[in-house]
Amino acid sequence: MTLRLFNTLTGQLDELVPSDGKALRMYACGPTVYDFGHIGNFRTFLQIDVLRRFLKLTGTSLRHVMNITDVDDRILHHAAAAGITIGEYSATFEQAFFEDLEALGIERPEFIPQATDHIPRMVELIQKLAAAGAAYQTEDGSWYFRLAAFPEYGKLSKKDLSGMEDGARVDLDEYEKDSARDFALWKAAKPGETSWETAIGRGRPGWHIECSAMAMEYLGESFDLHAGGEDLIFPHHENEIAQSESVTHKTFARHWMHVRFLLVDGRKMSKSEGNFYTLRDLLLKGYKASAIRLALISVPYRHQLNFTFDGLAEATNAIDRLRTFKQRLTSGSFAEGENPVLQAAAQQAQADYLAALSNDLNTAEARAPIFDLIRAANTATDQGQLLGGDRDAILTVLASFDAVFGVMEDRDAEPTRRALEWAEKAGRLGEVAPDLMVRQGLTDEAGIAMIEALVAERTLAKRQRNFARADQIRKELAEKGVVLEDSKDGVRWKRK
Ligand code: AMP
Ligand code: ZN
Repeated sequence: MTLRLFNTLTGQLDELVPSDGKALRMYACGPTVYDFGHIGNFRTFLQIDVLRRFLKLTGTSLRHVMNITDVDDRILHHAAAAGITIGEYSATFEQAFFEDLEALGIERPEFIPQATDHIPRMVELIQKLAAAGAAYQTEDGSWYFRLAAFPEYGKLSKKDLSGMEDGARVDLDEYEKDSARDFALWKAAKPGETSWETAIGRGRPGWHIECSAMAMEYLGESFDLHAGGEDLIFPHHENEIAQSESVTHKTFARHWMHVRFLLVDGRKMSKSEGNFYTLRDLLLKGYKASAIRLALISVPYRHQLNFTFDGLAEATNAIDRLRTFKQRLTSGSFAEGENPVLQAAAQQAQADYLAALSNDLNTAEARAPIFDLIRAANTATDQGQLLGGDRDAILTVLASFDAVFGVMEDRDAEPTRRALEWAEKAGRLGEVAPDLMVRQGLTDEAGIAMIEALVAERTLAKRQRNFARADQIRKELAEKGVVLEDSKDGVRWKRK
């Protein structure tokens, strides 16, 4: 079974197969570890996980690289503001990112290189670009890519660059859609900023060169697939192509996959709109990690996903149905034999499921035959018509469904437990949904510890004359059924 996947570069569905006949070499842009990942980020990483799992299910070996961008404008600013090194700053969010991947059942790529471990490769690439006349140094010591040296610039994003200003420059890692400019490869050190002493001067790499250098280090000059969110098409991926191909004169990546953006309630997710969610936010609201995974993968990657809490509730129900059904099959006793109707239904479901995924990873269409099969099998079981051979055939279909969807096993307790532990340390217990507090057992030790942590936080807030926060905590506890009594011996709490 060969996957036909939309290729941004050619604008059509192309077959995705390893060009060396051995392993599919793919590079997916990883996170910039300056904050906790939001559900938009995870939509992209989950859809790449769907691709990865489908390739493995259909017998393709992988050499999958995902970088960690641990130096960029934002990391430098945040670390400086916190008065710590960029390594210390990014380590926290890198670890959080891996915890979140695990919570969502996202498999680890074979290689996870960090940008700051590959500075010499980036410098080498810039030197080669300079030698080819595609890079130049400015007076302050920074290096820029000369767009005019790469006439094919714009071939991925299909941008018309005729109005481009020759020699106009931009040194930001992320910049406006319409500014096709000479972009920074290397930024000269500013006083007090983290920098590296190298053959091209003291400074730090731009974001784009990081990915070109790491992709070629692990995958060679030319490889099978490059992936990321749709916002990366321009300028990031366009710039990666320009930098890499100007040196190698070979096609950098043959196939480009871009995941469309996630919206929340039909709008762009943003902190100021109040519709911005990290994975942790949703776990603290009491949603299961598996339901979040299913909600984020059930809309095919090339469609915009409109995330809603109704959608999350639907995913929660779907998971219940899957798990209850599997339980029914594995714990029930069935008479020997095969029912030809169910055998045919299982075979058809499997074929439809694989056909849908091989058609541009259509996860929505792939789900449907599985749930149809569950319905038919439940009816047959009710009527005593499901036999031992049918159970085995259906379990095989469920296993191949779960090889990609990854939600059947109940591993939800651990991510929730970890999120609560994190919330306690981060002073964010006030955000925990009341019913989750109850589910976690307010009467057990952890529940009591949680309440006491909040009470202590309130006492501290009062001491610091932060009465707004103190009142907010009193209100949050009240919502959880806990009342506070201020007495001369301190604060006492009790349940309503
Ligand atoms: P970043 O850490 O900002 O570099 O982003 C990591 C990945 O998440 C990139 O592949 C982005 O394209 C992707 N991404 C960012 N925002 C969204 C969103 N709202 N929906 C889907 N993917 C996103
Ligand atoms: Zn990248």
